Amino acid sequence: MTLKIGVLLLVILGGLYKIVLSIVEYRSANNPTPENVANVYDAETYEKWKKYGAEHGRLALVSGIVSCLVSLALLCTEAYAAFAALFPAGAFWQLLAVVLLESAVGIVIEIFRSYVATMVIEQKYGFNRSTVKTFIFDRIRSAILEIIFSLGLAWLMYFAHSRTGDYLILLFAGAMFLISLVITFMYPVFSRIGNKFVPLEEGELKDRLMALLTKHGYKVKAIEVMDASRRTTKLDAYFTGFGKMKTIVLFDNLLNAMTPDEICAVFAHELGHGLHKDVLKRQILNIVNLLLMGLVVWITVREPLLHTAFGFEDVNYGFAYILTGIGLGILQPLTGLLMNAVSRRAEYRADRQAVKEGYGEAMITAFKKLAKNNFAHLAPSALNVVLEYSHPPLSRRVEEVEKAMKNQ
Ligand SMILES: [Zn+2]
Repeated sequence: MTLKIGVLLLVILGGLYKIVLSIVEYRSANNPTPENVANVYDAETYEKWKKYGAEHGRLALVSGIVSCLVSLALLCTEAYAAFAALFPAGAFWQLLAVVLLESAVGIVIEIFRSYVATMVIEQKYGFNRSTVKTFIFDRIRSAILEIIFSLGLAWLMYFAHSRTGDYLILLFAGAMFLISLVITFMYPVFSRIGNKFVPLEEGELKDRLMALLTKHGYKVKAIEVMDASRRTTKLDAYFTGFGKMKTIVLFDNLLNAMTPDEICAVFAHELGHGLHKDVLKRQILNIVNLLLMGLVVWITVREPLLHTAFGFEDVNYGFAYILTGIGLGILQPLTGLLMNAVSRRAEYRADRQAVKEGYGEAMITAFKKLAKNNFAHLAPSALNVVLEYSHPPLSRRVEEVEKAMKNQ
């Protein structure tokens, strides 16, 4: 009984976390705009932004409350075990039953949520590009993917646990390590699929960028331009690969939207990340995070009492998958808190790199273009920033860059 209450409390805590966050976010639309970023949007655009943000916030709040209440109802009534009893015995059928019920409920809630988000809110503000037909097609496709994904993971938990027993956690650690290595080394290869890359053309811009690299003895294989404008309006640049294979990728949008000084500022910022090995540090934190996730999985599959408390006769791997989700609902905000804090610090440090190279002013105007382009929140609440933001809000970054410029 205490275990059952414990799990229900975790569901409530996880739900409350999301609900409180969306309330804070919803209210933050009315925060006064800091003076140093007041010129990012014109008054009309900002009013539109506020209303748009508020509508999405309200929707997130309602759907958060609904899914928390539904989860509690399903758990309290032992509905998962009752539904599984309708299926044949055997670990696979039993996990299939639980995953099907969970996915069906999740999909229904998601259809309502995304219908309002896409066809009502996005439509109203002119962002919606999908018709009812593509909307339905997209929903069916993601429902099928969701079921396959959940089923695959639950089955993997069953397969790995039945083969390795308590060594599961070691297996998980090894697998995570391998996967992260593969992703790190293969990312430059994967990112080439479906995108076109051309070397940055010779000229003044390239000379200035190369000079920045040489100054720090930073060797790269190439500076390339990606045709990102075909699918996104995002402005971005990133460094990828390791050792002699390092490549710098600039989005074509970035080159079109920014002045040479601003491009150099963004580039110097990315170089700052490179010089401080921020990507590697994030990778290591990611592995730690994944291991903690593995620990949650391990606890849910090896403790039968967690299952019998909800009406099952023994461990049900579909239910273990659900319990893992509940555990992560608590764990993720905690690890996110740490990872976001580390990431925001790295951003400030990278910004200072741009200042050091003499691009402080250009960095600020580049930030403002980025913020406008991404329809960014100019005055998020401090609580949202601490819990959720991997990058500091615009006004804080401008403040820090100005401070660094004064101290130079
Ligand atoms: Zn950055």
